[in-house]
Amino acid sequence: MTDQTHAAAMHAFSADTASTVDDVLSYARRRVTYQDVPLDKPLRPSDLSRLAGGTITAEGIGSRRAAALFENVLAPACVSTDHPAYLSFIPSAPSKASIAFDLVVSASSVYGGSWMEGSGAVFAENEVLHWLAAEFGLPAGAGGVFMQGGTIGNLSALVTARTAARRRNADAGRPNPARWVVVCSAEAHSSIVSAAEVMDVDTVAVASDAEGRMHGAGVDAALDEYGDAVFAVVATGGTTNFGIVDDIASIAEVTTRRGVWLHVDGAYGLAAMLVERMRPAFAGVEHADSLIVDPHKWLFAPFDACALIYRDPAKALAAHTQKAEYLDTLTETPDWNPSDLGIQLTRRARGLPLWFSLATHGTDLYRTAIEYGIELARRIADEIEARPGLSLVRDPQLSVVVFRREGWSAADYQAWSDRLLEEQIGFVVPSSHAGEPVLRFAIISPLTTYEILTGILDTLA
Ligand SMILES: *Cc1c(COP(=O)(O)O)cnc(C)c1O
Repeated sequence: MTDQTHAAAMHAFSADTASTVDDVLSYARRRVTYQDVPLDKPLRPSDLSRLAGGTITAEGIGSRRAAALFENVLAPACVSTDHPAYLSFIPSAPSKASIAFDLVVSASSVYGGSWMEGSGAVFAENEVLHWLAAEFGLPAGAGGVFMQGGTIGNLSALVTARTAARRRNADAGRPNPARWVVVCSAEAHSSIVSAAEVMDVDTVAVASDAEGRMHGAGVDAALDEYGDAVFAVVATGGTTNFGIVDDIASIAEVTTRRGVWLHVDGAYGLAAMLVERMRPAFAGVEHADSLIVDPHKWLFAPFDACALIYRDPAKALAAHTQKAEYLDTLTETPDWNPSDLGIQLTRRARGLPLWFSLATHGTDLYRTAIEYGIELARRIADEIEARPGLSLVRDPQLSVVVFRREGWSAADYQAWSDRLLEEQIGFVVPSSHAGEPVLRFAIISPLTTYEILTGILDTLA
């Protein structure tokens, strides 16, 4: 390397690049404070190649051009998941405070994996995790870590559960089963099956009742059949497709009596437990050995974050602490090292945006914002029932409303959905239930209004 090339490299990483930083931050400010976020829509690969290809060059295209390409071409080719008429999958609705603070997490290059390096950030994240654990009725020793998302949170929890089961067998001098089994409901999220595949274990789906809820009796029967091969039972605290909460109390009675790990997957729905009148629906969560809830879903934080909480974090350390000579200085201390509680090593302090927003606004605002979604779902469900040609597939329990347009085929739903996005009215993709094509509103954003929803219903006439 010549002195000249070194000087150029130094420049790129130094404070002299203030104008680049200003350009980027001023775009970020515009995007965060947009009053009317455009919904936007995807483009074809060929169109994007033509409009924004060839950006990776030996000399670079410069920050002005790169930023302009992003703002004018690439960003409009991304559907705005925070748009109030984005009602598919699970929308995002990060508070302005949490988005702004997400920039700070990057700006500060905080390392969130170890106490030694990130104690201040880890402390703040733990404040949030301990608040959540208390809300869910877990004991004082409970603790956890913010993972990338519910999929990785569920996988990490199940790996911990299996390690604990192996340990129990070893202590009792019992052999491990030929195949481990995780018990869940037929309505459990796809990430449970995916985790089982990664772990090379089997899943046993317990039938749910007519409302889609799994009960203790079904779990009890599965445990009779599979016995000690079962290392965990997964109860769902709000299914993604319908927002149905399993009968966690009766399931917890069974897992407690039989000494089996209970994991509660509340990625979407567990946030509803922060609303006082919803707490009875989640009775039994306090018996969970592990649980997850995603701040990037109904806790108004940006992508990506899953709060993974263990009743006994020592069990997670036993499963996840990575051993390496260069890490000994970290792992041979009693410090609280978030990396050791899940599947990861290097980690972004991804819980900080939620911490900042919670600290700024207070928890009451969160309860109110979540309750708004539940009430709006109820109101629009009543409206759907009242409209000729529309009917509910099920009564909403949380903030997901699933309904049908009488007489429409899957192709009709798809054509309608495509038109809705093309005309930038809303983003509502068809879903299906028991082979029947259906429509689904998932309501998260406090900016989603009754009028937006009835406007979309009008297009179904
Ligand atoms: C969304 C969801 C997941 C997966 O979470 P990601 O953050 O998307 O990985 C798991 N379980 C349930 C119930 C969910 O709703």
